[in-house]
Amino acid sequence: MNKAVFLDRDGTIIKDRGHINDLKDIVFYNYTFDCLKELQKEFLLFIITNQPGVAKGIINSGNLNRIHSYILQKMSDHGIDIKEIYCCTHRKEDNCLCRKPGTLFIDAAKGKFSIDLENSYIIGDHPSDIELAIRTKANGIYLLTGHGQKHYRELSFHQKQRIKICSNLKSATQTILKAINYGT
Ligand SMILES: [Mg+2]
Ligand SMILES: [Zn+2]
Repeated sequence: MNKAVFLDRDGTIIKDRGHINDLKDIVFYNYTFDCLKELQKEFLLFIITNQPGVAKGIINSGNLNRIHSYILQKMSDHGIDIKEIYCCTHRKEDNCLCRKPGTLFIDAAKGKFSIDLENSYIIGDHPSDIELAIRTKANGIYLLTGHGQKHYRELSFHQKQRIKICSNLKSATQTILKAINYGT
């Protein structure tokens, strides 16, 4: 069994610039590559993102593909291997199974890469990332970057009890490495 870290995209590894439809709006946090290099020593890495702007006609699907190729290229330039980018392009009202907190992508990754979810992490800046972690019995880490501050009050007591809250991906990485090294 493999352990994994599922990373949200906007507000987690790149700055949240709303519906991104252009490569020039991709801005990595200055700690992103260092964090992922550390995490990949112990975990398979995935990106999991909701991009409803595609269904809404705000994001062109060709541009979305170029954006994801660019992200993978930048990762590869830094020696980081992202196993898959899982992207839901539907709107909430489409009621698909892949939009977070829908578990379809996690279920797929679990089967394809034999992932031990109880020892894996889901990191993101939105309550839907946390709900996904709870539904899949993975460890959730809520970040205060991106939309994290804004949506913090939407987290229920139950959700807050089940997860860790970190200021950003750097602090989340330290939290994870500490937990696996000391078993806390
Ligand atoms: Mg996000
Ligand atoms: Zn979907």
